[in-house]
Amino acid sequence: MLSYPPFLPSSPQQLGWIEVIAGCMFSGKTSELIRRIRRAQYARLPVVVFKPELDQRYSADSVDSHSGMQIRSFRVTESEQILELAGDARVIGIDEGQFFDAGLVQVCEELANGGKRVIVAGLDLDYMGEPFGPMPILLCKAEYIQKMLAICVLCGAPADRSQRTISRGSQVLVGETDAYEARCRNHWDPDSYEASQEQLPFGPNLAESPRA
Ligand SMILES: [Zn+2]
Repeated sequence: MLSYPPFLPSSPQQLGWIEVIAGCMFSGKTSELIRRIRRAQYARLPVVVFKPELDQRYSADSVDSHSGMQIRSFRVTESEQILELAGDARVIGIDEGQFFDAGLVQVCEELANGGKRVIVAGLDLDYMGEPFGPMPILLCKAEYIQKMLAICVLCGAPADRSQRTISRGSQVLVGETDAYEARCRNHWDPDSYEASQEQLPFGPNLAESPRA
């Protein structure tokens, strides 16, 4: 299975493409985006990163992962602004793609058609388990996709769902770690927003888990 470009083609014509990094909360999407952008920086390719205006976690002018990696970025309110601001960048990163308008798909297509490498990270499912914003269409249009998995906080199994753990009416900041947990298919319940008090028995391989 080819989920990631194996090499950067050195064609006389610049070849562009779209990569999507999708997954649930705490699956490492932003860290993976930053890793790819950093590799491009090491290769002295001009890079730029965008994120939606509403994402104001941690700091105002950089894309941050939960693990503390950081990179400079622009905040934009509409996907169209990405075309204006991309300039001569060869590699364009877009974080929190799920929060952009539907026009993001066409923007990514135009950039890739123009020879840019476009990397979009975002939640593929919302906390109700439904495809999120422009992500499902982008997953179809992309040349390369990677689905990141987290670890279920209740059983340690691979997790691909974001469980909202506070009540429905509460204000929730984007990326607020207290409001969501990664859950596996068995432990994800969209109808329950209260933190689960249930402590399931851990297997011997999870003896080191902080929850054990
Ligand atoms: Zn589980």
